[in-house]
Amino acid sequence: MNKEVRVRFAPSPTGPLHIGGLRTALFNYLFAKKHGGKFVLRIEDTDQSRYVEGAENYIKETLAWSNIPYDEGPEKGGNYGPYRQSERHNLYGQYAEQLIASGNAYYAFDTPETLDFYRKDHETKGKTFIYNWHNRLKLKNSLSLSPEEVQQRMQAGEAYVIRFKSPQDKQLLLKDIVRGEITIDTNILDDKILFKSDGMPTYHLANVVDDHLMEISHVIRGEEWLPSLALHHLLYEAFSWEKPVFAHLPLILKPTGKGKLSKRDGEKGGFPVFPLSWEDAVGYREAGYFPEAVVNFLAFLGWNPGTEQELFTMETLVTHFSLERVNKSGARFDPEKTNWYNHQWLQQKGNRELTQLFMPVLEGKGLIPSVITHEFVEKVISLIKERANFVKDFWELGSYFFVSPTTYAEKARKKQWKEDTADIMQQLTVVLQSIDDFSSISVETSIKNWIGEQEFSFGKVMPPLRLSVVGDLKGPHLFDIMALIGQQECLKRIRNAISVL
Ligand code: GLU
Repeated sequence: MNKEVRVRFAPSPTGPLHIGGLRTALFNYLFAKKHGGKFVLRIEDTDQSRYVEGAENYIKETLAWSNIPYDEGPEKGGNYGPYRQSERHNLYGQYAEQLIASGNAYYAFDTPETLDFYRKDHETKGKTFIYNWHNRLKLKNSLSLSPEEVQQRMQAGEAYVIRFKSPQDKQLLLKDIVRGEITIDTNILDDKILFKSDGMPTYHLANVVDDHLMEISHVIRGEEWLPSLALHHLLYEAFSWEKPVFAHLPLILKPTGKGKLSKRDGEKGGFPVFPLSWEDAVGYREAGYFPEAVVNFLAFLGWNPGTEQELFTMETLVTHFSLERVNKSGARFDPEKTNWYNHQWLQQKGNRELTQLFMPVLEGKGLIPSVITHEFVEKVISLIKERANFVKDFWELGSYFFVSPTTYAEKARKKQWKEDTADIMQQLTVVLQSIDDFSSISVETSIKNWIGEQEFSFGKVMPPLRLSVVGDLKGPHLFDIMALIGQQECLKRIRNAISVL
């Protein structure tokens, strides 16, 4: 690539970012970093009616949490600012006028009521109203009205918009890295509004003007923008500007594979669709996912490295990423797989870091940090982490390390606690008391030797012992658990089981 790579993520602050939006940001970032280019954040907030308070912050916080830093953007600055379209609004009018002057756009005076009337009228006839070459001369605009009337209307302060004059009878050849070549018949295009009566540009004009002014080399965005590509292509031609390279990322599909993944799917399936919580919707961050896992699974929604490797850090993604390996077809979202990724990333984390994260959970359970040492928690985590997907699973998997069992699994009790068990356990306490070095290996040796001497079967001793210590038949290597909770605690638990069971 000879030109400097400059890509942008251009969200509209209309609400929380869907994970699809975050994927768009990620793919832009990966592409920029791969090519030593720049990743720009541009806030597209020209549609005041859809503006939502807090949404811009949400976007920035999401990018920060996901470790996707931008090189230029609002507050951050850069040579192509401002990066918020509302702060650039004075800039767009001249470009709309330029298109009028070159005959590529026109003023239109049709009121929303009139247009609405046409729309409804068409609907009742089973047709769709399209404002374009086939009817524009019958509507109220600077192509159909005399220059004098246009002037008069403007001077009288009548509201007007500026529309793009889509060409008639032309075949457009659009290029997209992901989709290949697409041919479009311009006769199906409508004359989109570029500039609104409130003095603000529409998305199309502002987006194309800014991509040009910000010297964006590649436009990487979601497939929902593919229908806009023809107009954008025509705008570049009308301005005689060099076009960026386009890449439209495939849709993220529902777990069933049918239709676009929506907020409702998340509610139904009990999984997040937003990176961070928003109102009553729980986000990936709050649900306990690691940002590394989220980035990793998002990368695989529409892209693959072409190998078996599934675990990627941001750095390795940068190395392996290419737009050529982005799929055309929709990417089915699999909530199970997101948990698998979190599981994998949890295994990569050091026990010290996991302890930091788990400590607040323990405090929430009323366990006092001065009594429970970090060292102890780290050891617990080392024993149970391989079965955990989330930090919050540690409690479920290992609460018995912290509190002695008060109840015992019913089924296990029935099956494993026999008539002579209490007596055997009683004898075992004597054995345990005599152990000086209460390490896992010496506890194991002592118990096994004793079982051998007594000619007991393992099945007679081990399950009830586990039941006494853990309260259930689950958990890691029993001798590891015993060594960790200590001699006195083990004796206490066994005695308690004898009296309760
Ligand atoms: N503002 C558009 C959005 O919200 C940007 C689309 C584009 O990247 O061109 O997604």
